[in-house]
Amino acid sequence: MRPSDVYPEGAEFGFELLVCRWAEAAWPPDGGSDGDAVIVARQLGTKRRRWDTIVVECDPAGLAARARFGDRELDSDLLHVVRHAPAEWAWYRDALPHPGYPWRYVRAAVHRAAGRGVVEKRRRNNRIEIRRVAPYPDWVRRIVAVENKPDLDASAARALSDQLARDVDTALADEVWVATAATGGRVEPALLEDVPVEVGILAFAFDADAPGDAWADATVEWHPSDVTPADAESDEERTTTRLELAERAYGAGWRSYHDTMRPDCRHFELRRYGRALVPHCAAKGGPQTAAECAGSCPDFEPEPPVWRTGGWPVEGGPGKGIQSLLRDRREWVRGREYPETGADADPGEN
Ligand code: SF4
Repeated sequence: MRPSDVYPEGAEFGFELLVCRWAEAAWPPDGGSDGDAVIVARQLGTKRRRWDTIVVECDPAGLAARARFGDRELDSDLLHVVRHAPAEWAWYRDALPHPGYPWRYVRAAVHRAAGRGVVEKRRRNNRIEIRRVAPYPDWVRRIVAVENKPDLDASAARALSDQLARDVDTALADEVWVATAATGGRVEPALLEDVPVEVGILAFAFDADAPGDAWADATVEWHPSDVTPADAESDEERTTTRLELAERAYGAGWRSYHDTMRPDCRHFELRRYGRALVPHCAAKGGPQTAAECAGSCPDFEPEPPVWRTGGWPVEGGPGKGIQSLLRDRREWVRGREYPETGADADPGEN
């Protein structure tokens, strides 16, 4: 498979998946590491800005402690309860800071949190009391945002520059990169002029047939600057927003594209590319974008019922084989990052 089979001209989706897979296995790009664990996600952000790839650098012990709260994301309402839940029983209104919205919504979040087992609750004297199941850990060290632009020429760099400058200014991420396909030459000076100087540039050469880790070669063309604000520690709003982002990354990972694509289509396949598995459409004879692979696709055909084995109808069902493979893979990667599990070396994406 050639790179253009995965990311044909104009389609960034396949390129993005390869970058995510590389980051999961090889982050950081300069090879140095403080022993951080990483969680990689894609297409996450805030109301105003969505990034292609997010790398959450985590404290390994903190990440292991985070697992106590389950595999699913803690959304902002649950985070409010879990982060402030007391060690000893207390009325939830005494224990939690005022959320800035009516308490009845907090009460609903308390019930939801207890239902998920991430806090304990009981009723005493007609009041709902809560107690934590464990302290919510400080697991996020840094958040890195990556914009994927395989065909980064000067005009693409110009188009991106305002967005990247805003990323640098808002400093929600600690570091910002642009990932592009290597051209074989040095990065053009014009390109560097159009990309803010604080933004790193990473050039990728992928070779599906290269052995082991050589399938992805990432070269740092320009080193980024750390854009973490000086008052980051005391900025509670920034901390909360980043934690919400990190939680979404934790819950979704980068393989959650199966939630929006059609793995229940008989033409949907996963194909090996180097150490990655990428979606492939047998009907089109090539890669499909996430936008194409939707309910509106004219070539969609439901997978045959005989494929729905393995517990149908309880555990089987349309596309369940592919979905569970991708989910299992996400669980394996999380497990690898927890120090005490001692998971084996990465066996490759297959
Ligand atoms: S035929 Fe359409 S829905 Fe089916 S896998 Fe291909 S792009 Fe997706």
